[in-house]
Amino acid sequence: MQFIMTRWGFPLLVCLLSLLSVSSYAQKSPHSSGVILLYHHVSADTPRSTSVTTAQFEQHLDYIAEHYSVVPLQDLVTAAAGQGSVPDNALAITFDDGYENILQNGHPLLKAHGFPYTVFINPAVIGKQNNQLSWAQVEAMQKEGASFANHTMDHLHLLEQHIGETKQAWLARVWKNISDAETMIAEHTGKSLKYLAYPFGEYNQTLARKLADNGYIAFGQHSGAVGSFTDMAAIPRFPAAGPYANLDTLKTKMASLAMPVTSTSLTDPEISERNVKKPVAITLNEDAASLVRLSQLACYFQGERLPIKTAQSQFEFTLPSTLPIGRSRVNCTAPSNSLSGRFYWYSMPFFIATKEGKYPD
Ligand SMILES: [Zn+2]
Repeated sequence: MQFIMTRWGFPLLVCLLSLLSVSSYAQKSPHSSGVILLYHHVSADTPRSTSVTTAQFEQHLDYIAEHYSVVPLQDLVTAAAGQGSVPDNALAITFDDGYENILQNGHPLLKAHGFPYTVFINPAVIGKQNNQLSWAQVEAMQKEGASFANHTMDHLHLLEQHIGETKQAWLARVWKNISDAETMIAEHTGKSLKYLAYPFGEYNQTLARKLADNGYIAFGQHSGAVGSFTDMAAIPRFPAAGPYANLDTLKTKMASLAMPVTSTSLTDPEISERNVKKPVAITLNEDAASLVRLSQLACYFQGERLPIKTAQSQFEFTLPSTLPIGRSRVNCTAPSNSLSGRFYWYSMPFFIATKEGKYPD
């Protein structure tokens, strides 16, 4: 008996536990889900739309400390990809653009809480522009819980094609930009996470596929929670600055769940035709769909509620007659059937160039 317990007891327990978690999606789903917040400046003197004041940031962190487990971005991504796990209230903190005020005003608060965080930087301007971190500062922050990742070399609009440039030449050019940035970050930090945050959140299917094929994980600026069905080449993050810094609305977002989307009828966010007449269909995982109260689904585009249709494990929305130039997105939410007060969240971004092929900042 002793022998049997030692030999089989543990594997049997593991097997039973995994059966339990598979049979109950309601319990499994939140465990493989988490939320990523996106900040830029921590300052009162920078553009409001991308800034939180030190006081606002402190208020966010105090709330987070009370209700969430802050984990390194790597842990959340790995768990969403199906390896490892994170607490069911996992939250990761990220910054884009490598501003010095992150160190001056954000870092002391993050350090006091013992929170890890990730900064996506543009190596070409690190130590070169007044408001940017220096490499020495990057290295010092790394020693105290920060990690650094790729935001392209110089914050270009990735989808802009030069005049006369072929699609192939465009991809080669942006790929070199991303690879060079990754090399430079590795040289200075000794680490190559192969994590890219798309500048302005702009990407298309071709680039996303190229990144995935080369072992990169990529992050957008559309909103939503991260879970096992998330596209690892377009991971959503909730902007938490400017108009989104309000803690009351941010609380709902931090508590959101990843909509279990398995496919969409519109697959490329780079849109060439501004009039998308056909409704966009979103298909959910059949098992997980029962957790989503689709009868109360709502989809919004620029503050307007969109016409929707729902079925067993699918929903569709109809876009307004003309999409705007630049960046826009649809946000859809539906209450959870099992977790009271929490919402499944899904966001689909759209990127449309001007006639000249430019993207506004
Ligand atoms: Zn940026």
